[in-house]
Order: sequence, then structure tokens, then C-alpha cells
Amino acid sequence: MNERDSEAVAAQLVAKGYAMTPDEQHADVILLNTCSVRDAAEQKALNKMETLIGQTRKRNSTAVLGFMGCMAQSRGQELIDQLPDVDLVLGTQKFHRAGEHLNSLLTGQRNKVVDTSEEAGSEATIREHLLNGASAGKAVTAFVSIMQGCNQFCTFCIVPYTRGRERSRSIKDIVGECHELANGGVKEITLLGQIVNSYGRREIGVKDGKSAFVQLIEAVHEVEGLERIRFTSPHPKGYGDDLVEAYACLPKLVGNAHLPVQSGSDRMLKLMHRGYTRARFLELVSKLRAVQPEMGIGTDIIVGFPGETEEDFEQTVSLCREVKFDNAFLFKYSQRRDTPAVAMPDQIPETIIQERHARLLEEVDAIRGRKLREYIGAQIEVLVEGPSHRNAARLEGRTRCNKIVVFEGGERLAGQVINVKITDATRSTLYGDPAIMNLN
Ligand code: SAM
Ligand code: SF4
Repeated sequence: MNERDSEAVAAQLVAKGYAMTPDEQHADVILLNTCSVRDAAEQKALNKMETLIGQTRKRNSTAVLGFMGCMAQSRGQELIDQLPDVDLVLGTQKFHRAGEHLNSLLTGQRNKVVDTSEEAGSEATIREHLLNGASAGKAVTAFVSIMQGCNQFCTFCIVPYTRGRERSRSIKDIVGECHELANGGVKEITLLGQIVNSYGRREIGVKDGKSAFVQLIEAVHEVEGLERIRFTSPHPKGYGDDLVEAYACLPKLVGNAHLPVQSGSDRMLKLMHRGYTRARFLELVSKLRAVQPEMGIGTDIIVGFPGETEEDFEQTVSLCREVKFDNAFLFKYSQRRDTPAVAMPDQIPETIIQERHARLLEEVDAIRGRKLREYIGAQIEVLVEGPSHRNAARLEGRTRCNKIVVFEGGERLAGQVINVKITDATRSTLYGDPAIMNLN
């Protein structure tokens, strides 16, 4: 989501005549987009800004330095009080105002700007893309922000405080953006929101037994030129049968679901205010796998939530063994300001969190590695995205179930859907050979 917000701000500035530089030491404007989900992310952004201030002020006393995003929203003026060299603090409903604020700072009309107020309609302003932007090649995949905010108030999470209440864009507006992306060569889009299956609940509502989110997917499915549709993140609570069935009816909707579970213990799920049980989560996984046996299922898990006993933790380990997630992001619980979990009894010591995190990481990595090795020898459909991130001499793409495949090939293949024969696998990546495929 932050990548998408940063892209929209960069696109806005490029449209106003700014040029992007890959080297921050040449920049006249540096905005750090920040995440508040864990304290470590906030500390990283603060440290980075301190380094930037040291480097930038020496060479350019009038350069504009700013924070944007969730930490900007939650800390506001406090950031300038702490780091007086910061000029701009831009909240999560104000990304589209970056250009006008920079103008007033660069022309000396204003000395500092802190803009974190709510703004009606801001959910529809994350719209512009940099299709040929920072990277050399043309974009094959793109993120589309369909809504902002969250009403769930999980007891550990700062997002409802930094991103505000749920607000959805219109289907027409989103489909218009997808058309523009497809016309620009994009083949795959990922619909983004904190709880995408809550999309349009109030604004659009259910029609012919279909939730607003399924109505949206159906409308995007009609966009010519798009080959694949993904979305992230759906919430296990309220994941309706209409959305499960969509996988069977809509061929462009790829077989992948990122389903954040957070814990395998019902006691923890209740304390976290997640709104589902372990049994309900497992039932959802079974329904999805019944529709598509090859469905890739990913998750997010928090280790060390207040009150988590060894037994609760073991239930998370057993859930991972049972589901065999294709991908799992593990987070060490981090106390966030204003959230109810901070005041809960039995906060878990850091050493125990570290130890449980390492144990679970080994478990989920081993499961993922075993699942990836099962693909060796198979032919698999890959959308070629471009040069591999690790080794630009090779190509990289994704399977429908969201696995990364690295293989040899010319850049002209970028944007094409090809079959690749899988020849090797590590714990995170598949390796393949399109040449072998051609001989078969
Ligand atoms: N809205 C999505 C959902 O609930 O399904 C997830 C969005 S959240 C910003 C991304 C992930 O960050 C969560 O799934 C959770 O695992 C993690 N997270 C949120 N608050 C956290 C905290 N206080 N400490 C550690 N991890 C946290
Ligand atoms: Fe945070 Fe829960 Fe909302 Fe996800 S659903 S953004 S974890 S409050």
C-alpha cells in the first residue's frame, strides 16, 4: 500500500514538471513515506531522516525534507519538534496535496507545513501511476487502491487511527483506472485495501446476492488487455461464498489468497478482536481449496501478543502445519500507541518473542520449501515481469498462485504469459527453463 501511495505522489510531482532522481544526494525534495505498523519501522524512518538531514543540509540548505504516510499522520507537529530540519509532514488523507505544499515551501511562501486533517473524497485521489517511471522497463503489473481506512480495530493495530474509517472509491472510477493501465501495457493488477472484502459495504451494498467487492472484481474482469487480477488483503471474517465462487467463475482471478490469520489460538483471536475462530478460518481454507486445489494461500501472523502462552503459540504452529501456507509473513508483536493491547496484562518479554519468532520462521520456511520442491518437473504458467531482482541477467515472473520463478530469456518476453518447466527450487524461489518447454 505504501509503495502504491509513493508512486501516486511521485506521478503527481512528475506531472507538475519535477524529475525523478535515483540518487537522493541530487534531490531537491526528499519525502519519506512511513509505516507505523511496528515501532521498528518508525525508528528506521526517524534514523533515515536524521542521516538525510546531515547529508542534505550541507549541500543544499533549501532542499525540502518531509515525512508522509502513517507516522506523519500519527505524530504530526511532534516530528518537526523532534527534528526541526523537517519542512513537511503530510498525512494519509493528503497525498494529493504534496505538489501544492511543496510549491509553497520551495517559493518561500511558507516555512513549514503540517497537514494531517481529514479530507472527504481523499480515497479517490490515489489514482495516478508512473507506468514508465523509476524502472527502465514498462510496467507489467500495477497496484490499484480501491479503498482507504479500516473499521475493524484489532486490538494490536494502529491502522484505524492512522488511515481513518473505511471509505471506498466507485466501481466506475476504479474500472476507468484499470482501463488506462491496460492501455499502458499492464497485464496484472492487484486491488488494494486494508479489508478488501469490506469494499463498498455502505456505498454500494449487495446486488443479486453479490457483495460490492465481487461486483467490482466482475467489472474489472471485463477490462480488455488485463490477464490477471489479484487482491490483498481480504479479512477471514466476512469472506463470503460469493467471493469463494468468484475463483471458479472468473478466469482472470488468479488462484491466490492472502488471508491474514494472526494466531492459531481462539483465545488469542478473541483478545485480538479478529472476529473469527480457528475452525472458521480452516473452513474457509477448505472451501477455497475445494474450488481450486492449487490455490496459493498466504498469511500474516503475530508472535508474542500479550498473554500468549506456550500452548497458544503451539496452536499457531499446528495451524501452520495443518494449512501448509505457501507464504507467511511473521511479525513480532510491537506495542502501538493508543491501541488497547498496550494496556493488556502479561506483555511477553522480547527474548521469548524472539525465540518463538525464530521457531515459527523455521517451521513456515521448511513447509514453503517442501511445497516449492513439489513443483520440480512441472510446467507452469508464468507472467514475465522483467529482469530478476537478484540477478538482472535473468528474467523473473510469477505463477498464478503467486510464486516467483526465475529463468533465462530475453527482455522481449516481459509482459508475456509463458509456460516454464520448473527445474529447481529454494525455500523462496522456483527456477525454470522456458527452452525445455519449447521442446515438449
Ligand atoms: N488489514 C489486514 C488484515 O487484518 O488482514 C492486515 C494489514 S496490517 C497493516 C499488516 C499486518 O501487520 C497484520 O496482518 C499484522 O500481522 C501486522 N501487524 C499489525 N499490527 C501489528 C503490531 N502491533 N505488531 C506486530 N505486527 C502487527
Ligand atoms: Fe489493522 Fe485489523 Fe484493520 Fe487489518 S483488519 S488493518 S489488522 S485493524
